[in-house]
Amino acid sequence: MKILSASWIITCNEDSTIIKDGAIVFDEKIIDVGTKEYIENKYTGIEIEFLGENSVLMPGLINSHVHLEFSSNATTLKYGNFMQWLNSVIASREELVEKATSKLISKKLSKMLKSGTTTIGAISSYSLDIEPCLNSPINTVFFTEVIGSKADMIDNLFADFKARLNSAKKNESKSFIPAIAIHSPYSVHPFLVREALNLAREEKLAVSSHFLESPEEFEWLHRDEGGFLEFFKNFLGQEKSVTKPMEFLNQFKDIDNLSFTHCVETSIDDLEKIKELNAFVNHCVTSNRLLNNTKLDIDRLIDFKVPFTIGTDGLSSNNSLSMFDELRNCLMIHTHKNPISFSKSLLKAATVNGAKALGLQKGQLAKDKDSDIIAINLPDTIKDEEDLCMNLILHTKFVNKVYIGGKNA
Ligand SMILES: [Zn+2]
Repeated sequence: MKILSASWIITCNEDSTIIKDGAIVFDEKIIDVGTKEYIENKYTGIEIEFLGENSVLMPGLINSHVHLEFSSNATTLKYGNFMQWLNSVIASREELVEKATSKLISKKLSKMLKSGTTTIGAISSYSLDIEPCLNSPINTVFFTEVIGSKADMIDNLFADFKARLNSAKKNESKSFIPAIAIHSPYSVHPFLVREALNLAREEKLAVSSHFLESPEEFEWLHRDEGGFLEFFKNFLGQEKSVTKPMEFLNQFKDIDNLSFTHCVETSIDDLEKIKELNAFVNHCVTSNRLLNNTKLDIDRLIDFKVPFTIGTDGLSSNNSLSMFDELRNCLMIHTHKNPISFSKSLLKAATVNGAKALGLQKGQLAKDKDSDIIAINLPDTIKDEEDLCMNLILHTKFVNKVYIGGKNA
């Protein structure tokens, strides 16, 4: 059992409790959280480690959507337009994936850890990121991804997907949890979606899919037109989309832990359906900005009571995998939101919402949750408690301490 105390504790619990001069008692799981005075009196004789002036304790950050296999991109891919980006990914994919060695991915993971990330939802297209994920102390929900829209390729693609999923399952542990990703409605044949989702239901696996990321995707799925038409004709000899957005969403019934990434072009009907499915939206604001896609309408999500999480997406569409960088971008890009109150929502999106989307008992400093905890020291005293979350987002680059499952990581 260990006790840490700090100037501030941001619990991210159901009541969004913030404790001034607080302490936390934990083992592998959190045992107790309260004011330092309360903990001192209750747990007499146990040493309390004080983290110093202007210290903050909070749940470790959860990056709900990242592609580690594209970690070697910095200046190769074309930003500014979704179709140009997609074409540049196809042109440079092999080169980038080859350069993203286990060593490079491990380096990125240790930087993520230093910037406060304790759990990731890793979308794995080729299973080349499995070793570095297994070797990292960061908890990984490992989404084996299925892709392929051509009917005559389905059997082979499904066999390859199942083999990759099985190798993830062989490595299952408390900190490595197999899951299933469907690439997107435009790139996965409905039969493949059906079979992959049946596996997810049978084995109670979390599921995630990209959904309505760009105007081109919207036009293609709804009307078989636009920028995707030429792309599909050239690469796959296809002139019609394999599904419609609502047909696609309807396939996801009875999945326990479900999330859709981007969703910037969703209709009201789509959002109602996403709500009905109890799904989360993975918000990747930097990726949307760099590919010049639409900004997610956060207020509309709130109206429809669809919760959102925070993901960095991969370095294929971001310059950083740090969650604090992503949170700052989110704060700056949603210009109509009040920065003080929005910061509080953002911290919950990056912790408890991420945990729920991935099906984990994490993301809150509350009794019986996993002890994934980060400690930060702010540069100066907080004058008004109200500003704590905003200042934390504004001023944090790296964290001072990370505990994962109660162990110093
Ligand atoms: Zn993505």
